Formats: sequence, structure tokens, C-alpha cells
Amino acid sequence: MPEAGRTRVVVAGGGYAGLSAFGELADRGPRLELLLVSATPYHYFVTEFPALVAGGVEEEGVRVSLRRFVAARGRLVVGSVDRVEPGPRRLVLAGGESLPYDYLILAVGGEAEFFRIPGAREHGLEVGNPAAARQLAARVAGLVEGGGPRRVVIAGGGLTGVEVAGELAERYPDRLQITVVEAAPALMPGFDPILAREAQRVLEEKGVRVRTGTKIVSVDPAHVHVEQGPALPYDLLVWAGGVRGSPVLARSGLPVTPRGRVKVDPLLRAEGFPEIYVAGDAASFTDPATGQELPPSAQLAVQMGRHAARNLLRRLAGRDEVPFQPRLLGAFATLGGREAVGYVGAGRFTGLPAVVIKRLIEAHHAVETGGLIPVLARYARPWARRLALRTLRPRPGLRPGGLEVAAGENGRIAPSPGEVSPA
Ligand SMILES: Cc1cc2nc3c(=O)[nH]c(=O)nc-3n(C[C@H](O)[C@H](O)[C@H](O)COP(=O)(O)OP(=O)(O)OC[C@H]3O[C@@H](n4cnc5c(N)ncnc54)[C@H](O)[C@@H]3O)c2cc1C
Repeated sequence: MPEAGRTRVVVAGGGYAGLSAFGELADRGPRLELLLVSATPYHYFVTEFPALVAGGVEEEGVRVSLRRFVAARGRLVVGSVDRVEPGPRRLVLAGGESLPYDYLILAVGGEAEFFRIPGAREHGLEVGNPAAARQLAARVAGLVEGGGPRRVVIAGGGLTGVEVAGELAERYPDRLQITVVEAAPALMPGFDPILAREAQRVLEEKGVRVRTGTKIVSVDPAHVHVEQGPALPYDLLVWAGGVRGSPVLARSGLPVTPRGRVKVDPLLRAEGFPEIYVAGDAASFTDPATGQELPPSAQLAVQMGRHAARNLLRRLAGRDEVPFQPRLLGAFATLGGREAVGYVGAGRFTGLPAVVIKRLIEAHHAVETGGLIPVLARYARPWARRLALRTLRPRPGLRPGGLEVAAGENGRIAPSPGEVSPA
């Protein structure tokens, strides 16, 4: 139950949007009862999954502990949200447990969009969530262990597909024969066209085959069938064809677009549900400057999460809320560990300078969310990493505050080992 006299704000989702919303509320908010609900006990750096999939980094290097992030500032509930019930203002977890809220910031992200292409969901492996990335990494490791070159088809030549292709091609130049299939006339639709061409040049130099203007019509267990030309045989199909909103959103009766993202007003509130703010990939926001829906982006998710939290704080203080104005400062795509392309404002970068800028952006986010631990976990030598992690890792029961509770198999909220139940 909410604590008497305190406004209970629940942030659902521990990704880029959810964490920036929670951080903002915790740092600037008055005395709020704050709860973070996440399907996993970690915040994952999804933008670094291409390296994880290719085996270039361990999972510890691309995540931070949410328990450590939340610490004394609120409570963490590890559990999967099944749906929101806006009438009684509660979240219902997968096991049936319900969590009441006064205000909700919904930031549960999205999932792969398969466009109802026959066979795509059954045979394609997605990249965008930790379980999928882990599964893909295991499949890649298994493939390269076997003899002879193996065929990898990457469906989708956007940022995700291009980054996965670059990492795999650099790490396994002789073992994997990689083909990127993109329906649009060029790679990375929406990206700077000069840089997109440079990305294609770099990929082709690494041996990647790029098939633009090629539409996938169906998938069987061994072939990708395309409208233009013969079927492409594959041993592994990576699905990087796009993102749609989490199924939780439509299940909750919220107003969603055909791509399953919640339609939000300029203040980032779900249309018709003023007590629910939506941020990140879960939200469909029309940029007033372009009239276009914002693309899925970690950078924009951080901005939206922070803005939603600030609007809520303004509202609680009796002040007017402010329309969200996205600022796309730039974008970078890595093409393996030593190549990247990207821009900041009017400046274009390629090669090593682009790699350095991209790594600095990632490190900045890692330090903001997890301090030095994730940076050490990613870049330090194994022995130094083990020592540092052992020294720095918070020990359960000795934390200054905060509570991690997990939804048990029967849906009851059970305390983590060594911790107390909130009840
Ligand atoms: C391989 C790859 C590379 C990318 N590279 C870039 C890049 O370079 N730059 C860029 O700007 N963007 C990039 N993106 C896009 C970016 O990662 C996403 O736009 C961003 O992660 C969206 O943030 P989010 O907070 O909305 O969702 P997420 O980061 O996906 O977080 C969603 C959170 O919600 C939780 N959750 C989900 N469902 C539930 C549930 N039912 N109950 C409870 N919790 C739940 C998840 O555990 C997670 O914590 C990339 C994406 C991919 C896949």
C-alpha cells in the first residue's frame, strides 16, 4: 500500500528512459514514494549489444545493477509487468501481484517488429533485449566453432543491423559469410546519407554483402525469400528489421499506433490518461519540428524520461508543464571495434575519431548509471576487473537503504535473499 500522505510514483522499466526518469525524480523530487519496476535486476546498455553478440565483451561489461542505482532513493521491484489498469491506478505483474500508483512513468521499451512476414518470428533471432542477445551470442559462438564458413543473414540494414554486421565481420572474417538485407534503397535510412554510404563501403571492405532495395517476403528454416532475386540460404538469421512497442501497452487498453507504441501528447502523457507518462521506445511522439514520429533511440529515451519526470514534478508543485522538444545532437554507428561513422551537429566523423567519440558517449552513460564498475568491467584486463568488481560490488544487507523485491513464481512479491519484505 502507498505510504500515508506521500505521493506514490512508479517508474516501469529500467532502461534508458526509466532510469533517467527515476534519477530525476530521486534527485530533484520532493518527498515522493518512488518505486522502480523492472523485468531484470540490471540496466542493460542495449547500444552495446552488437559487441556482446559477437563475443567481444562479456555481459558484465554491458550492464549495471539496478539495486545499486536505486540504493536509498526508493524501492526496486524485479518483476514483469503484465498490464497497467488505469482505472484503479495499478500495475499488475505477471504472477498477479498488483502495485498501486498515483502517477506512472511507463518506459517498458519495445520488441522486434516482424511485420507479419511468414516465418520471420519463428526463425529470426532478435538483438534488442538481454535474453535475445544472450541467445544470439551463444548461437554465434556455436556457429564459429564448427568447420567451414557459415552463412549469416541480417534482416534490416538500419543502425542495429549495420552494427551487428560490423562486429561479426571484424571478429570472424574467415568463419562468417554475412549478408545484410535492407528494403530501402540505401543502408541506415534516416541517417546522414554520406555517412551511410561510408558505412556500406567499410562493411563491404570487411567482406559483408549488402543487398539494398531487397524486400523479404517470407522465411523458411533454411532460406530467406526475397522479392528481388533468388532465396538467400542461411545458417543464422539475425532479425534487425525494426521495433514495435511492448505488448504490455496494447494489453493495458492505452491508445497505441499500428506499431504498438503509446500515442502521447506534447507533455508526454498518454492520450486520455493524464496520470500516465510514457517515455522511450514505448512512446509514439510526433516531433513538432518535422511532423514525424521520433525513431527509437537511446539518446531520445533519456531525454524523454528526464522530461516526463520534470513535468510530473512541475505538476506536483502546481506549475505548468512544458511541451517536450527533442534534440537529436548526433548519432554514431560502430562497424566493429576499430571503425565507426557518425555526426555531431554539422560535423561528420569516420574511422578512429568516430570510434573514440562513440565509446566516450557510452562510457559517459555507464558512469552516470553505474559509476566506474561497468567501465572497468568492459575495458580493464580480466585480473584487474575481477579484483575491482569484488572490491566495489555492493554486498546485500550492507547497503545504506533501498529494497529489492522480486516477484516469485507464484506472483507473490518475495524479498531477495538476506533482505526484508516490504509488507
Ligand atoms: C543493437 C542495438 C544498437 C543500438 N544502438 C543505438 C545507438 O547507438 N544510439 C541510440 O541512440 N540508440 C541505439 N539503439 C536504440 C536504443 O537502444 C533504444 O532506443 C533504447 O534502448 C530505448 O530505451 P527504452 O528505455 O525505451 O527501452 P529499453 O532500453 O529497451 O528498456 C526497457 C526496460 O523495460 C524493461 N521491461 C520491458 N518489459 C517489461 C515488463 N513487462 N515489465 C517490467 N519491465 C519491463 C526492460 O527490462 C528494460 O529495463 C540501439 C538498439 C539496438 C537493439
